Amino acid sequence: MTNTDMLINSLDRAMMESLKVFRQGSVGSEQNFVVVNHENQDAYEVVVDNGIIQKCTCPHSTHRKAVCKHMLKVSMKMKMDIEQLKRVEF
Ligand SMILES: [Zn+2]
Repeated sequence: MTNTDMLINSLDRAMMESLKVFRQGSVGSEQNFVVVNHENQDAYEVVVDNGIIQKCTCPHSTHRKAVCKHMLKVSMKMKMDIEQLKRVEF
């Protein structure tokens, strides 16, 4: 699988699955969001620093430093960029 395939897969899931984004609060420049999947009851935390999405607590993001569906969902909902995608030109 290429990075492109993985990104498309995560984007698909971010759009198709019923993921809900909740504000969790903020400390200094850091903000946290919780992304809940109502289908399987998963909930993961997405960390934002200075308005840029940094990471997620799900296995996909933690173990592979990948851009996961939770980060993509927060990006879409909150109109925030993702650190790993910041230097990519589209
Ligand atoms: Zn995640």
